[in-house]
Amino acid sequence: MIYVNRDSVTFPEELLEGNNKYYEEEVLMRLQEPDKFRQARFKPDYKVLHRIRPKLEELFNDKCCYCESRLDKWDLEHFRPTSTTTGTDEKTSEEGYYWLAYKWFNIYLSCAICKRNKGNAFPVLGKRLEAPSIELYHNYEELQKYMTTEESLFLNPCDPDAYTDLQFQYDIGGGIIPLTEKAEYTVDRLQLNRKALVEAREQLIKYINNATASISFTKGVNSNVITDLIQLLEDDSTFLGLARQMIARWFTMNKTLIKDFNPDQYELIFKALSKSIHSIEVLAGKESEEETFKGYQIAYKNEAVIDEIDIEKITTDTDTPLKFSRFIEWIDIKNYKCIEYVKLEIPPPSEGERENGILLIGENGVGKSTILQAISLAMMGEDQLQHLHIGNPGKLIRRNSRAKKARIRVKFTDEKDIVVVEITKKGIMANRKNMVKPCVGIGSIRRLPESGETISFSDDSTRILGLFRHDVIYPDIQPWLGNTKQVNTHQFDEAAKAIIDMLMISDEFIGKERLVHRKNGKLTVNVGNGPESIEDMCDGHRSVIGYALYILRCLSLYWDSSISAEGLVIIDEIGNHLHPTWKIKIVSLLHQVFPRAIFVISTHDPLCLRSARDGEVWVMNKKQETQEIAIVQKDIPQGMSLETLLTGKWFYMDHTTDERTSQLIEEHSTEMFSETPDEARIKEIETQLERTVLQTPFGNTKLDTYLHFVKEVQSESISKLEADKELRDKLANRIRNQIKS
Ligand SMILES: [Zn+2]
Repeated sequence: MIYVNRDSVTFPEELLEGNNKYYEEEVLMRLQEPDKFRQARFKPDYKVLHRIRPKLEELFNDKCCYCESRLDKWDLEHFRPTSTTTGTDEKTSEEGYYWLAYKWFNIYLSCAICKRNKGNAFPVLGKRLEAPSIELYHNYEELQKYMTTEESLFLNPCDPDAYTDLQFQYDIGGGIIPLTEKAEYTVDRLQLNRKALVEAREQLIKYINNATASISFTKGVNSNVITDLIQLLEDDSTFLGLARQMIARWFTMNKTLIKDFNPDQYELIFKALSKSIHSIEVLAGKESEEETFKGYQIAYKNEAVIDEIDIEKITTDTDTPLKFSRFIEWIDIKNYKCIEYVKLEIPPPSEGERENGILLIGENGVGKSTILQAISLAMMGEDQLQHLHIGNPGKLIRRNSRAKKARIRVKFTDEKDIVVVEITKKGIMANRKNMVKPCVGIGSIRRLPESGETISFSDDSTRILGLFRHDVIYPDIQPWLGNTKQVNTHQFDEAAKAIIDMLMISDEFIGKERLVHRKNGKLTVNVGNGPESIEDMCDGHRSVIGYALYILRCLSLYWDSSISAEGLVIIDEIGNHLHPTWKIKIVSLLHQVFPRAIFVISTHDPLCLRSARDGEVWVMNKKQETQEIAIVQKDIPQGMSLETLLTGKWFYMDHTTDERTSQLIEEHSTEMFSETPDEARIKEIETQLERTVLQTPFGNTKLDTYLHFVKEVQSESISKLEADKELRDKLANRIRNQIKS
């Protein structure tokens, strides 16, 4: 991370004060009547913000303001989060800085990974600033000054007083070493020592080392090499902070030499280095001139290969479950139920703030639920597994095999240790004592409690039980949310935001008043027709709210707002009980409400894949001959029709037509290819098809192709066909070939 001087570019016109700016209307209304908006999630107008993109690219030289890597996909970043924000404990959330959504000094450019890692966290030392008065809001300079009275734990790349360049050093292996408390927090939260960055920085270190080593002092200074080094000091160079530090050290040791041989280049390099405060300190001799870039031998390690583990030898570790791992890198499952061996290597999230998920599709009985179960087991630690009441563990081991045990392994991105769970007839064991990740498992059958039944939430393992047993009861969340002692007003309003999002309540209602109320332990939602209790809502609405609130309740043990909640959420057959309108949106709605949670979802409903992103859809198949199970990742091209999805390589259906029509087609085809076709019957069927299916426009499935040819045959040469056997054979061949292709 380096200091970036915001004054180096002109103020973006789009954000200039003084104009009557429509996009600021909501901010002003919120400042005036904050209470009315407590349940409304603030969503900045990105259409406006995207207009200042060129300005941001100029300012940050197309690089991420945090990790300094070049941007493939840029993300607009609010340094102070505009929606709900959290502090260091990550549990307690507060109203975000919506009033800084359109303030130039709060808008940055970052890579998608840093943005996702940062999320909505913004811890401050001392008290968080309150929203400003309208007057202060309109005074850009004063507002900026006001913000400096709040001390953030994140290092601000545009703060000249932060001495950003002095906060870090680098080790020889490419690792970044934070030198202050703030730098440490920043590196940790943004994961600036993630594998890809460390490797890329290591490459640069090697390059600079080679370049400087190639300079032969006896033959004079190699000016080409110096030109190369000067290039690395350009503003748009990747990892400029690192290059400055290394080159400054080398320069300090060799400056007399360079000056003697190449005074012009000396000037250039000196000028380039002077931009960095740290380099200036080096040049000023504050650091020992003899010191070379030895690096600090704490090189990042990512070796994590465990083939077999000996459960007996595992010592219980002391990892607390509160330090959560990030995204799953891979999962493999061996000898578990119907699975001999399967491995899922999960690509990193493709874009945006949210984590990717796994959407598992496949025929019924292929083993989707089995995979979900296995993943949930791997999230439990030894302690939880002891309390998991799933009966005889032996039945989880693959039958008819010589295997004595089943094994599940999970590797998280940028984590050294692999999570291993082993199942023998005696029991289930893990290589961790504590839970790996809070996990919520929702089975395909959802039984709600009878009156008087109460369900405890304190037991981690019961929250995955629904994936294994159909008699699990899903609790009513209302008594909890309705209880003002358990759920404070802020937490309740955060839950209300989740309900409003899930119900896709139109923006016109938002901000009018509180839409979700609680009274005597019961919730009501007002979507324009007056308050309606959750019980009175239609099944579809209750299902979507049910999903969100149940997940929220489970994760509320660790976080008080859905937006900061992390964990693994596993849902079997997500489409059950949902109306098509929600099936299409459910995955993206859940991601919107829980952007930091990882979702592992199974479905056999193509509608539920409508909001899948690249890398998320996995197709599960069983080979008929060998019974071998394969899981393959297959993206769904944008704009693909449902028909094509169903008949394509996702669902492998032959056709999607109704039974009567498919029978007619079957019969037609049999007659067409028979030695003695019943011409009268063929004609009769064609007339019937003409009246029904052939009236509709053609798609591009095999069925459509077939029908298309039928129509062609009919219109062109049906009379000739009757007489001409050769022509019929030719056409029959054409149809056959067409269908095959
Ligand atoms: Zn970044």
